[in-house]
Amino acid sequence: MKKKVKWGLIGASRIAAEWIIPAIREATDSEVVAVQGSDKDRVEKYARAHGIPLAFSSVDDLLASDVDAVYISNTNEKHAPCAIRALQAGKHVLDEKPMAMSVKDAQAMVGLASDKGLVLGVNHHLRSMNSHRKLRELVADGVLGDLVAVRIMFGVLLPQANRGWRTESADAGAGVFFDLSVHDADLLHFVLGEKITQIAAFTSNNGISAQGIEDTVAAIARTESGLLVQITESFAMQHAKTSLELHGTKASAFAEDVLLQRAGGTISLSIDGSRVPIAIEHSNAYPRVIGAFNDSIRGEGRPVVTGEDGLASLKLAIAAREAARTGQVVAVDTMR
Ligand code: NDP
Repeated sequence: MKKKVKWGLIGASRIAAEWIIPAIREATDSEVVAVQGSDKDRVEKYARAHGIPLAFSSVDDLLASDVDAVYISNTNEKHAPCAIRALQAGKHVLDEKPMAMSVKDAQAMVGLASDKGLVLGVNHHLRSMNSHRKLRELVADGVLGDLVAVRIMFGVLLPQANRGWRTESADAGAGVFFDLSVHDADLLHFVLGEKITQIAAFTSNNGISAQGIEDTVAAIARTESGLLVQITESFAMQHAKTSLELHGTKASAFAEDVLLQRAGGTISLSIDGSRVPIAIEHSNAYPRVIGAFNDSIRGEGRPVVTGEDGLASLKLAIAAREAARTGQVVAVDTMR
């Protein structure tokens, strides 16, 4: 029998409770042994509620305990400092998105993981969904022909429970760029099989985010091969469904309701105006993220989204933010 991977959670968060703890437990080769949260009473209560044996209020105490890997899901500004400390302590790291709030920090994490021979992954879970794997396949197999243009729409009404730091605290990385743009960037890189190299963007505030923090973004971008991409992202759209459209010379693919945490949604192909649904066997993305990470710790394969992948999506989100701030088209350095 495989030795179990012992996971420690840094951040007593909702995503860990709803998706990651169940995913770690669904894998037969991993277990949750510890959790860290900054408030002692709250983290102890969280540990009891989720049946986690050890609770710590200090990150260093968790890192000194017998854990092999850490999953970091506290607020965005804590991701990089915690990841760097964990890698320095010899722990494998699965980091939440955004993997860091600066390119420099993300590069330091990638370098450290490589120097120490540790696994670094980022939880861009959309790559693990069968819907997006199917879209990537349609592109790679040439079913759509040469792509002419792409549109992605990640518009939701952010639930009240998810507001707070995410809509109000610039220091904690609030706003659409670090929440939705990083996911879209990673998904586009995955589905298209190439990176975005230039972006222009505008933002607006529709009263969901605090003053000075965007809740809606519209961007246009161009990939390495010259493909044009339109991006719309919002915390303020009550009546929309998320979507991804890939328009090629042989067919267009329309994917709807596919950019959420739960698996689901539809894909159809349009050829000469007739729509044909494509069957997708949906399955929860998070166990795939954990399964691949557990395997990569044992030297079998790699995380679904590596540190380098996370760095690329972070660069694009930061470039989009810079484009919106300056009103300029911003080039994305895809090399380092
Ligand atoms: P939460 O707001 O649930 O938790 C984030 C942190 O906020 C916690 O770690 C905790 O900090 C603090 N916190 C939470 N609730 C309380 C409370 N009641 N009282 C005091 N402090 C509290 O965040 P989410 O689960 O929504 O997001 C966490 C991270 O995961 C983010 O970086 C986000 O971007 C990412 N995420 C990723 C998703 C994905 O599918 N990949 C989906 C959703 C989120 P501390 O532990 O330090 O005490």
